[in-house]
Formats: sequence, C-alpha cells, structure tokens
Amino acid sequence: MRISFLECTRCGEHLSADRPQNICPKDGGVLFARYDLASLKGKLRPDDLRGRVASMWRYAEALPDATPVTLGEGFTPMLPSREFANVYIKDEGLNPTGSFKARGMSAAVTMARHYGLKKLAAPSAGNAGGALAAYAAAAGLEAYIFMPKDVPIANRMECDYYGAHVTLVDGLISDCGRMVAERINKEGWPKDKDGWFDVSTLKEPFRVEGKKTMGYEVAEQLGWKLPDAIIYPTGGGVGMIGMWKAFDEMEELGWIGGERPGWASSSPKRPKMITVQAAGCAPIVKAWEAGKTASEMWADASTFAAGLRVPKAYGDYLILDILKKSGGTAVSATDEEILSATRHWASVEGVFAAPEGAASLVAYQKLRASGFLRAEDTVVLFNTGSAYKYLDMIEAQEKKTRLVAPAARNIGGIIGPY
Ligand SMILES: [Zn+2]
Repeated sequence: MRISFLECTRCGEHLSADRPQNICPKDGGVLFARYDLASLKGKLRPDDLRGRVASMWRYAEALPDATPVTLGEGFTPMLPSREFANVYIKDEGLNPTGSFKARGMSAAVTMARHYGLKKLAAPSAGNAGGALAAYAAAAGLEAYIFMPKDVPIANRMECDYYGAHVTLVDGLISDCGRMVAERINKEGWPKDKDGWFDVSTLKEPFRVEGKKTMGYEVAEQLGWKLPDAIIYPTGGGVGMIGMWKAFDEMEELGWIGGERPGWASSSPKRPKMITVQAAGCAPIVKAWEAGKTASEMWADASTFAAGLRVPKAYGDYLILDILKKSGGTAVSATDEEILSATRHWASVEGVFAAPEGAASLVAYQKLRASGFLRAEDTVVLFNTGSAYKYLDMIEAQEKKTRLVAPAARNIGGIIGPY
C-alpha cells in the first residue's frame, strides 16, 4: 500500500516516504511507515489472504507499494511442541539465508532499489550481513558489511559468495556500527547520491516492516487468535518492535480484537511480550529489572549466541516500552543453558535451532518454574535461525563446557535398529 508518511517514534514528526530517510533529524528517533489502514477496515478481511503467495509479501496491503526483491522469505512453519501442550515453535530457520533477518532485508532492499540507491552498508553480528548480501545480490546492488572477525564462519562465507564487500572488525557490532556511521557521515547519502546508504538496524524504516510480518503470521497461523505470550530472543529487537506494530495495524484493520471471548473490542488482549537475552550480554534484562526506560551499553559482551551479542540496542526504548505495555518480562540464559537447550530441542522436537532460538526454550522453562507462565497459556517461542549456520560456534561451546554427548544408544536399547 502507498505509505502515507514516516512517523518518528519519539516526537511524532512526519517525514515524506517519497525519498530515502534514515532516522528522525530532530531527535534520532526510529521512523515507522504509516499507511491508511483504517480505510481498508471491513473491506480487506483475513479470508482475502487465502490462496496468496506463501511468503511475507502475502500481507501486501500492510507493506510498501514497491516491486519486492524476494527469495521466498516468510510464512515459516508454526510447529506445535512435542514436549509442551499449548506451546508452538515459530521456525524462522527455514527462511532464505537461514534466519529471520531475511524478512527485514527483503523489505529494506526492496525499498532501496525502489529509491534508486546503489550501495547499502550495515554492521552485523552475523546473519543480518548474510541476508543483506543475498538480497543485494538479488537486486543487483552493492553491499558493504562490517562484522566482528569472530562471527560464525557461515556468515563470512555467505557474504563472500553473495559478492558483498566485507570488513572484519576486531570488536563487537557496536564497533562495526561506529565504523559504518563514520564512513556515511563523510561521504554517504544524502551528501553523495551515489554514496553509502545506512541500512543498520532501525536506522531506516523498512527492516522493521519486513520483520513485522512475523506478527501477522503468528495471528494467521493460530487462526487469527493471538497467543498469551511470545518469547523473543532479543539482540536489536526489531522483530519484537515489528510484531507490536503489526498488532496495532491488525487492530486498525479490524482483524483482531472483539472476536475472542473476554476481549473488549476497544482494548484487545495482546500477548505478553518476553525478551530473552544471553547472560553474557543482557542490557535489556538489566534495564527491565531496574525499571529503566532505556538500556546502558553492556561491557565485555560475550556469548556464543552471536546474534545476542548486541551491547546496546538502538530501539531499546521501544523494546522496554513494549515489555511494560504488554505485561511481559525479560529473562537471561547462560551459554551452558543455551547449549543444553539446543541439544534438547534438536533431540525432542527435531528442530536444530540457532543458539539464540534455543534461548527461548530456556526462558520458557524458567518462566514456567517461576509461575509467570502457566501450562494452559498458549506461548509462541521464536527460533530465529538455523543451527546449520553456527556449527563452528556450537562445537567450540561444546568443547568449552566439556558437555559430553548423551550416549543414547547405550541406554538399555531404548534407541536401536531393532
Ligand atoms: Zn523525532
């Protein structure tokens, strides 16, 4: 749909979507694309989605009106857990490039091509870089990616093969982000029309547009009922921010609210939004526990869940606001717990999850134990990526914790070729 305007999430300033924009020029706030969805209320119904393409572009009315750069992203499986009743695993590992980053980059690169931009730059903890490189290749654009030198080998290799310009940095994603910003300030867009355009997390409005489709899918795949809670591994937090935006939009469209017993149509029940972070880098958890509205830069960030190694999220104020408004919470998981959950999920569910995704299981178990979540609560756990992109990291973590593989075949013949 045609974008009405871009709106600053801090001051409410309106900006035109007719030209590329990064952040609010007044206060650096994140920009949201706004559409006239109210005009579709009653005209566009969930049933109208039947038979549409099984990708995130099926929600075309809620996405920018531009020719998509698509590799088939989105509409990933919603798998009922084999272990817990009322629990679902939303498996984002089946996206192109093996992670949920595909959604955001499909939308961002679509709009970059639409605007005639040529060179896209971003820092990445790993998977965003791979996704940017793939979509830039598909669009015929150049990608400039800065990533920590110790990212999973899959991320380095995919960027190379997709033809991106990669700079490996002796530091964290925050250091990478600083290097991109310096270069863009010197010779980037808009000073130089052929210069780099910054597609860093939340520094342009469209990655969140792609990621928000996870919110539409959660609703559609659960029969247009929202779950009681969503557990979301939070690095930059774009998916959480996007899903909350999607719930607002679905309410505007009249797709949610009122139809579920106990829901007042004026204030539909929203899922409790739950952040999970790695104990070695948990700035949102720390801020949440201290009752703050913004986080502080986490010192010495360290975890093998590479995507959670984000010392300070640019949209931290939005994430913390959503946790509060939704009645959610924030929990952390140690690397040992994450590794053990990765193995557990693989062996019990048949889902070989990225460490970030397996952290969702740790959070679920902790919140069930604490009573925050009940057995009857419908809960969606996000697996944000595929473990196949982390084999080196997982093996290294195995060695580090000296976690011995369970000798399943030796346990009294429970498993065997009989
Ligand atoms: Zn602003």
